[in-house]
Amino acid sequence: MIALPESPAAFADATWTDISPYYETLAQVPLSMPPESAQIEAWLSSWSQLDMLIGEAGTLAMIAYTGNTADEAAERAYLRFSMEIFPLLEEQQVRLARKLVAIGWSRPDLETTIRRFRSDIEIFREANVARFAKLEEYSAAYQKRTGGLSVDWDGEAKTIPQLQPYLKSNDRAVRERAFRAGANAYLEHREELASLFDRMLALRQDVARDAGFSDFQRYAFAAKHRFDYTPEDCAGFHAAVEAAVVPAVARLYANRRHRLQVASLRPWDLAVDVDATTPLTPFRTVEEFVNGARRIFSRVDSELGDKFDIMAAEQLLDLESRPGKAPGGYCTDLAFRGRPFIFMNAVGVPDDVQTLVHEAGHCFHDFATHELPFAWQRRTGHEAAELASMSMELLAMPYLVQPEGYYTPEEARIAWLEHFEDVLCSLTHIASVDAFQSWIYTHAEGADAAARDAAWLSIRARFEPEVDWSGLNDERVSRWYRQLHIFELPFYYIEYGLAQLGALQVFRNAVRHGPEAVQAYKRFLALGGTRPLPELYAEAGVTLVFDTDTMRELVAFVEERIVELREGAVSPFGAALTVA
Ligand SMILES: [Zn+2]
Repeated sequence: MIALPESPAAFADATWTDISPYYETLAQVPLSMPPESAQIEAWLSSWSQLDMLIGEAGTLAMIAYTGNTADEAAERAYLRFSMEIFPLLEEQQVRLARKLVAIGWSRPDLETTIRRFRSDIEIFREANVARFAKLEEYSAAYQKRTGGLSVDWDGEAKTIPQLQPYLKSNDRAVRERAFRAGANAYLEHREELASLFDRMLALRQDVARDAGFSDFQRYAFAAKHRFDYTPEDCAGFHAAVEAAVVPAVARLYANRRHRLQVASLRPWDLAVDVDATTPLTPFRTVEEFVNGARRIFSRVDSELGDKFDIMAAEQLLDLESRPGKAPGGYCTDLAFRGRPFIFMNAVGVPDDVQTLVHEAGHCFHDFATHELPFAWQRRTGHEAAELASMSMELLAMPYLVQPEGYYTPEEARIAWLEHFEDVLCSLTHIASVDAFQSWIYTHAEGADAAARDAAWLSIRARFEPEVDWSGLNDERVSRWYRQLHIFELPFYYIEYGLAQLGALQVFRNAVRHGPEAVQAYKRFLALGGTRPLPELYAEAGVTLVFDTDTMRELVAFVEERIVELREGAVSPFGAALTVA
């Protein structure tokens, strides 16, 4: 319908002036009345292709910048997309969405898309475009500050991710030193980060008020298309975690204290493997890391294994930690090319295996949704996206052991134990981060740095049993400054909890019924965002969990596996999963 460039390369150096004429043309196309599907679909297809071309150009700029935050040209390109182009693009999306919604046309596999369009139209305000651009600028400042942090470790500069192996050291003094070094790196910039957050918070509250919401939490629910649950449900989730998960974590930590033979469990005692005599080193080179993953995924499902092989062959993996690389890990989608990409900071610890398997779950989701014709159908909320990744973490578990995986049977037992323990502990962390954000945006004191830090301490006390933080209030406070979601992606966190509880159900189905659970998982992947959230979960064979009773059942399922593993079980997964 309109002439488009052949590849995202055409937009690599584009400014908004180069891009806007394409949207202008799309906006001027007269849509037939009464609506004719063929014409509207051709128009949607041009729009979708254009979005994918520009989106991919921006994604490539992000990959280049996060791969080397010291590269100034890459930084400029990344900032041009994130601060100039994408906020203005958002405005054009709403403009074209209005045009579509106005003619009242739909088709079944676009109903969820149109519902999201309606919500975007409702909350859109011209005045907020500049605010979002400013927020992007602040996010970039947060990323630059935290990505550039390094600590002196015996005369050598280490990044924060590079401290991780020392947090797992069997020498308690080394762990304490690594813990304090990591916390201090953030505390040195506490005032700067707090002031950055003040500005972000004020802007967000302005965004919400202009759009007619009482606070940014309500706005965020609409903006994130959370049509199927409310802030009240989330408060219920926090209460359920407190009732069902916190006591289980208290049991884990009591066991840990006993195993470590310490009088009280300090925060630097939480990461060490209590069962291992030396820290696990699943791989030594990136090649070993990748080859292990290829074998593991092909055991989960041969088709998924083939997809991961494509990623390895086409260099869609940037895995090792290097100075200057942005922290964290992500999977991103090169939507036009039809390929996902994984970025992470691997240093050779078991967490790296978890991260890769997690991000690969997102990639499998991307691959599956590339079959869908329109860009919007491929997009899901994070609740579904994280169900894809967190289910994969669990489904891959049985194959982490040799010959496919990285571990001897004894090492695998330790890694499995650690993962199941992490699942329970992470639910308490998720509840606290979500409760904290809810508090910040619904209380006037949220704008006061000292009150915010105090609120974090009191919320953490609800969710973190058995750990002795005495004398470490500042270090405890530093934890939220490390949580990039709170700065950059507000309210993106409860999704991890909902998805984790969904993933546990996927895994329980696999333990009980074998391969059928993976088939249901793949059917869920293929739906992308074409159904409402509860239906997507239902396709995977699971439900959204906010209530204490269901949470208790799932916690019991995890604790049973933990008990079996502690008793020395070679595989706690049952016959359905371990038979070839
Ligand atoms: Zn994820």
